[in-house]
Amino acid sequence: MKKLGLPVNPHYTICRNMDEVVSYCNSWESKRNDLAYQVDGIVVKVNSLKLHEELGSTSKAPRWIISYKYHPEEAVTMIKAIRIQIGKTGTLTPVAELRPVQLSGTTVSRATLHNFDEIERKDIRTGDYVVVQKAGEIIPQVVRVVQEKRTGEERPFAVPIRCPACKEEVFKEFVYLRCYNPLCPAQAKRRIEYFASRKAMDIEGLGPALIEQLVDKNLIGDYADIYSLKPDALASLDRMGEKSAQRLIQSIEKSKKRDLSRLICALGIQHVGSHAAEILSKHFNTLEKLTCATVEELNKIHAIGKVMSKSIVTFFSNSHTKDVINKLKSAGVNTRAIIKDQRTVSPFKEKSFVLTGVLNGYTRKELESLIKGLGGKVTSTVSSKTDYLVAGESPGSKLAKAQKLGITILGKVEFEKLL
Ligand SMILES: [Zn+2]
Repeated sequence: MKKLGLPVNPHYTICRNMDEVVSYCNSWESKRNDLAYQVDGIVVKVNSLKLHEELGSTSKAPRWIISYKYHPEEAVTMIKAIRIQIGKTGTLTPVAELRPVQLSGTTVSRATLHNFDEIERKDIRTGDYVVVQKAGEIIPQVVRVVQEKRTGEERPFAVPIRCPACKEEVFKEFVYLRCYNPLCPAQAKRRIEYFASRKAMDIEGLGPALIEQLVDKNLIGDYADIYSLKPDALASLDRMGEKSAQRLIQSIEKSKKRDLSRLICALGIQHVGSHAAEILSKHFNTLEKLTCATVEELNKIHAIGKVMSKSIVTFFSNSHTKDVINKLKSAGVNTRAIIKDQRTVSPFKEKSFVLTGVLNGYTRKELESLIKGLGGKVTSTVSSKTDYLVAGESPGSKLAKAQKLGITILGKVEFEKLL
C-alpha cells in the first residue's frame, strides 16, 4: 500500500519473531501518550497471505491477527451518589454517579457497579473515593475504593428491599435483584423504549424522553397503548408541536406492518433477542402458533435452548401479556411472517456445490462465499448428493467422477448464468 502511494501509519514495523513483537509492544507503552490520537493497544498480524489460509480461523476470529491491549488508564474520583436503574425485565442495576473526571480522553461521570453483590464485595459507599477505569476502553467501571481517603462518614450501601419505582418487594435471582411487578412504571418505560427501538419495531421519533412523559402522564401504560395515541394528546406534550405529533403518528402507523420476527423481538421476552426472534418467526409463521407452543415443542427447535423455551412459555401464559397481545391485534399490528415473493427464491438454496479447477476471475474463497451467501452449500467431495460441480480450468479428478454420476457441470458461463 505504501508503494502504491496510499497513506499508511508511519509507525508500523515488521517483526521477525515473537521477541521482536513483545519488545515493539513494550516500547510503545509510554510513547503512545505522545501521539496525537488515543491508542489502547497494538494490532499484530501475520503478513504472509499464504499463512493466513494455513492458520485459518476459529468460529469467532481469524488466527493470524490479534490485538495487544495496554493496561487501561485509571483515574481517581468521588462517588456523589449510587442510583438504581431498572431494566425492561425488572433487573435493578446500581450505577455510580461520579464527580466528573478525565479518563482516556473523555469525561466520565457515571460508572456501572454491575450488581449489589459487587458493591458489597468491594464495599463501595456514597462519598467514597474510587479508582475507575474503562473496560475495553468503553464502559467505565469502579475498580476499588481508596480506603485511605475515607472520612468515616460513609455508610455501607443499603441494598434495596423494595423497587424504587413502584415500591413493590424485590427478589434475588442469582446475583441480581428483580422487581416482578408487571405494572412497574420503570419497567414499562424500558419495555416501550425497547419495543420502539431500531432493532425491534423501529418507530422513529419515539425516544426515551418522550416515553418518560407519556407514561408519567398516564397516556400509555404499555407498548400496545402506543397504537391508540391521539395526535391532539401528543401535541400537548413538551417539545412537541402539531407537525412532529403528526409525523410520530405516521411512524407508529408504519410499524404495524413490520414482520413477525420484529414483533417477537419487540415483545421483550427475557432471553429472546433479534436472532432467536427470527428463528421463532420462521418456525411458527404466526404469533398465535407461537403463543400456544409448549416447552417441549420449543426445545426441539435448533438454537432455542431450555432456558429460552421456559421463558417464552412463562411470558405467554401471563394474563397481562394476553391483554397486551389482544390490544396489539385489535390495533391491526401484523402478527404473521411476511412470506417472501416466490420469484426471489435463490436457485442456490439448499443445493450442494463442489468446486474444482480455477474459475477465471474468482478466487476459491469468493466462490464459496457467493454460493453460501445465496443459500447453497459447498462440500469437498463429489457424491450422488452433489447438485452441481463448478469446473474451471485444469480441473481435477472430481470432473470425471461427476460425469460418471451424471451431475450437472457448470463452467464459468453457466455458473454466472445461475448467479
Ligand atoms: Zn418496580
